[in-house]
Formats: sequence, C-alpha cells, structure tokens
Amino acid sequence: MAVQPIDAGRPAPTRTAPNRPALAAADPELAALVDAEERLQADTLRLIPSENYVSAAVLEASGTVLQNKYSEGYPGKRYYEGQQVIDQVETLAVERAKALFRMDHANVQPYSGSPANLAVYLAFLEPGDSVLGMALPMGGHLTHGWGVSATGTWFRGLRYGVRRDTGRVDLDEVRDLARAERPKLIFCGGTAVPRTIDFEGFAEIAREVGAVLVADVAHIAGLIAGGAHPSPAPHADVVSTTTHKTLRGPRGAMLLTTAEHAKTIDRAVFPGLQGGPHNQTTAAIAVALKEAAEPDFAAYAHQVVANARALGDELAARGFDLVSGGTDNHLLLADLTSKGVSGKIAAKALDRAGIVVNHNTVPYDPRKPFDPSGIRIGTPALTSRGIGAAEMGTVAQWIGLVVDAARTGDESTVSKVREEVRTMMEAYPAPGLLPA
Ligand SMILES: *Cc1c(COP(=O)(O)O)cnc(C)c1O
Repeated sequence: MAVQPIDAGRPAPTRTAPNRPALAAADPELAALVDAEERLQADTLRLIPSENYVSAAVLEASGTVLQNKYSEGYPGKRYYEGQQVIDQVETLAVERAKALFRMDHANVQPYSGSPANLAVYLAFLEPGDSVLGMALPMGGHLTHGWGVSATGTWFRGLRYGVRRDTGRVDLDEVRDLARAERPKLIFCGGTAVPRTIDFEGFAEIAREVGAVLVADVAHIAGLIAGGAHPSPAPHADVVSTTTHKTLRGPRGAMLLTTAEHAKTIDRAVFPGLQGGPHNQTTAAIAVALKEAAEPDFAAYAHQVVANARALGDELAARGFDLVSGGTDNHLLLADLTSKGVSGKIAAKALDRAGIVVNHNTVPYDPRKPFDPSGIRIGTPALTSRGIGAAEMGTVAQWIGLVVDAARTGDESTVSKVREEVRTMMEAYPAPGLLPA
C-alpha cells in the first residue's frame, strides 16, 4: 500500500526526528500513514460536524499502558485481579461524567455510540418490541430503529420526522404516534438535527405512554456540557452519548441514567453486550470530562454555536437553502437543489479545495442516499483551532465558489480556494497535532 500524496507539489515537512520514533522504526509504512493523516488534519478546513481535534492531553491518555489491562466488571466488582489502579481510573471518569451531566449514574464502558444504543435496547426491550425514533433521512441515527440496522430488524422501528414547512420536529406527530403505537422506548436526538431538542416535551410524551426516554446527545454533548444547549437532565431516563464529537474526547461512549435504571443499564453493557472495557479510552474520557468542566470549554461551546450561526447567515446571504432556515447548534444542513448540483458532487469538489464536509440527505429528499441533495456542515473542529465568527464570511465565500465551480467544472477556482484554505489553516494551529 502506498501513501497517498496529499499535497502534490508541496514538499513534505522536514523534521529533525520522527514524531513517533518507536513506530517509525518498527513500521515505517504505518508511521508514514499517520504522519500523512496528521498533515491532512492540519491543513484542511474540517467541517464534519461529528469530528473534532482532541487535546494533546487526551491523545496522551489514550496511548498509555492502561491499554494492557483486562478489567471485566465494574470498579470494586471485577472478574480479574490487579485492578488497584484501573478501578480508580474508571471511578474518576464516572464521577466526572455524573457531575458534568447532572445524572445519578454513568457507565463509561460502551465501545462507541452504536453499541451504547444497542445496550439500551438490551436493557429495556424484547425482540420485536417497538421503538420510536427519528427517521434516518429526517436527521435520525441508524440505531434509532432504522431498517438496515440491527435495531430496525430485531425491533419494530416507528419513525417521526420533521415538518415539511418548518424543517423541525413536530411534537404533535410524536405524541400521536406514541399514543397509537405505545412504544417501549423513545429516542430523541439525531445526527443531522440543526435545532434545539425539546427534552421536556419528549419526556412528557414518554411519561404519558409509559415509555423509557433516551436522549441521544452524541452530537451535542459538548454543547450541553458547556451550557450552549439545554440539558436532557432531569427529563430523560437515559442519556446516550459518544465522547468524540463536540465533547472533544477519545472515540468512545457513555450511558448516563437515573438511579432507577442504573443496574439495568450496567448489566446490559456488561455482561450483556461487551467484555473488557477499553481502559485507555476510559482514561482519555476522564481527561476530556475534566477539560469540559472548565470555563474555557464553556466559552468553546458557545463559540461553536456562534460560529455556526454566523456561517449560516453568510451562506443564506449567498443563496444557500438551509434546512429549518438556520441553526441553534453546531451544524447546518444545506439543500443544494437550488444550486444545481448534488450533495456528493459538491462534497467531492469541496474536498479537493481542502474543505471537508459530508453529503447528506435533506428531509423529503427526492434523491437517493448515496447521492443526496444536501451537505452537512459543522463548526466544532474549526472552533477548536480558534477560528472565530469573523472568518465565517470567508468560509461561506469559499463554499459558495466551490459549489458553483462543482456545477461548471471550474477546477482552477477549486485550486485557488485550496491555497487560500491552506494559508488560513497555517494561521490557526490545531490542538493535539505534533508540529510538522
Ligand atoms: C455518532 C452517533 C451515534 C453513533 O456513534 P458511533 O460512535 O459512530 O457508533 C449514535 N447516535 C447519534 C445521534 C450519533 O450522532
């Protein structure tokens, strides 16, 4: 396998010593790939709303000898000896999670967001039981009962959407569905939801029909921690979240619950679904939670939203059609139908220009999911680099130029924007990346 050239024509940065000397010596091929990814992350404008840059501290914690330990069970109740230190690591993460999200109980062991959600099904449902979640093409997640996911084949998935006129969830629709179908589980939250989630409204519906309410805040956990989005506590029975999106931790997940559901959720994660927890990840989650409790992080979370709002305004001023008309959080969903180009073609051209987004369906999309009408744009990663609202006009201008260029096949504009992106990125070094 050859390393893909990222910057044809640009010399590789010269180093006096490799950043990862042991890796470079043992496996130069793999080391070169990591170096290449590091450069790609340094000199592109990353607008994928689920991505971020973790701190150097989080990176260090996730690369530790904690990786060498097996610790099936929970602190104080393990199936392996030698847990004198690991128990303390996991307890730190659990206590920090409970304090930050103001929930009674936290389980920090789920390997990622999808297995965390599967554990929730295992905890509360029998195969064939009903689950009500947001439809995938409306902004929901696969694991909320969508058909191609195990959660939609082993369980009966019922779906709500967003209103065609507002692009927002209609709680009357959710309530009608819940009353008619009496699902055991209701999910709120999603992956392409640009608006605030009304946890209290969902909780009222769940209470009325006797369902367990799961707030899946994978995307917005960092905004909640920083006070830039309302909290699901005390409304949700279970809060499910990844730790690697706006929360800016390692790839992992957590399930937070009320005292009532603590044991059920713990049993579902282990031994129900998983074996040994990834202790190096638990350690890095603990570090990320400490960082997320600091005033700097609250400022970060608010800046993420301010940047998304500013970018939304600038895009709208350039004729972009934004689902729901804008954003309350970290992400924007742009319907490119009026621009005469598909989401995939636009996303590929933006990638060539060093602007990384993903193609995405928009609600009521007439196109197919592998080449939908929209692109999804988010501000968490650029905000971690210290890029502020004043730069959003430039970013929107680049997106506008490249989307037009994608339609007309104007590759020279794409190349010109690529150079401008590189120049801006040089002015805003990314956290956690080793110097070139
Ligand atoms: C990202 C995400 C997940 C899944 O997380 P993975 O770690 O990718 O498995 C679950 N739910 C929502 C709402 C998400 O955005």
